[in-house]
Amino acid sequence: MTTSRQREKMISGRAKIAGVMGWPIGHTLSPKVHGYWLHQYGVDGVYIPLAVDPARLEQALGALPVLGFRGCNLTIPHKELAVKIVDRIDPLAQRVGAVNTIVVDEDGRLSGKNTDVYGFQENLMAAGFQPLSGSKTAAVLGAGGAARAIIVALQEFGYSEIRLVNRSTKRAEQCAKDLSEGGTLKIFSWENVTQATKNVEVLVNATPLGMKGQPVLDIDLSNLSPQTWVTDIVYTPRLTDFLLQAKKKGQPIVDGLGMLLHQARPGFFAWFGVDPKVTDSLRRFVLDDT
Ligand code: NAP
Repeated sequence: MTTSRQREKMISGRAKIAGVMGWPIGHTLSPKVHGYWLHQYGVDGVYIPLAVDPARLEQALGALPVLGFRGCNLTIPHKELAVKIVDRIDPLAQRVGAVNTIVVDEDGRLSGKNTDVYGFQENLMAAGFQPLSGSKTAAVLGAGGAARAIIVALQEFGYSEIRLVNRSTKRAEQCAKDLSEGGTLKIFSWENVTQATKNVEVLVNATPLGMKGQPVLDIDLSNLSPQTWVTDIVYTPRLTDFLLQAKKKGQPIVDGLGMLLHQARPGFFAWFGVDPKVTDSLRRFVLDDT
């Protein structure tokens, strides 16, 4: 790695600036991801964490062009709120109802995008997954912000039936109502999760269950076919108990770290002009297990 002195030399008065806004922000891995790429590609740029109170999000976003920022990422709890603040929004972000990447356009206006959809799709495809043609069924556990992006990603892949399993029915109903346009969404309760997974081609955990400090996700996988892809968006630990259980059963599995890394690529490209690669050394660097 570079020393801080070497790093200082890489940043000139013309450095391109981007960052990530969240509240709190200390947990974010995004500065590590972008910092790795900035160093790897020798970009004269910086990417910094920005602790922004949701009550001041509009003010903070308005300051981006004033301060010469190329743009920023948004994390919890800003993604939904930003939809109403940006000047332009791409159709995918509008459909998901969340913005996670902002680009300051040449005219100083803010363009909002959602790259979680892309991150989820790229992560699966990088592992060898190929969406089949014809009628396709998937199941998603969870109906929060991440689940919404995943549902849209599955709809974009052509899934005609998406089974939504969520703890609270109200949230599942709202999610199904908002996202029904791209295909059929069927709501299942947690009690019926085994039925929901029957003959699906993809099963996704989009809840925090299984994350360090959270209860494990313990569901019956006996209804899965041998070809069902199982993926988890939790990435601490990288291989959750849920994924290990599926692996033991012989299912193809995909961990959630790749989604985090791939969703960062379009922003890096827009702000710093390089399309970065997701590599094993980046994965090890981000998880500190080199
Ligand atoms: P969120 O909006 O708060 O939604 C959480 C979802 O999980 C809700 O559907 C909630 O159900 C469900 N849930 C929470 N605790 C549960 C429990 N104990 N039992 C059953 N269901 C439970 O959160 P989010 O933004 O969607 O994020 C979800 C997870 O994905 C987090 O762990 C986050 O770190 C991770 N994530 C990963 C990536 C990535 O790039 N890999 C990207 C985004 C998020 P209710 O509706 O009933 O509350």
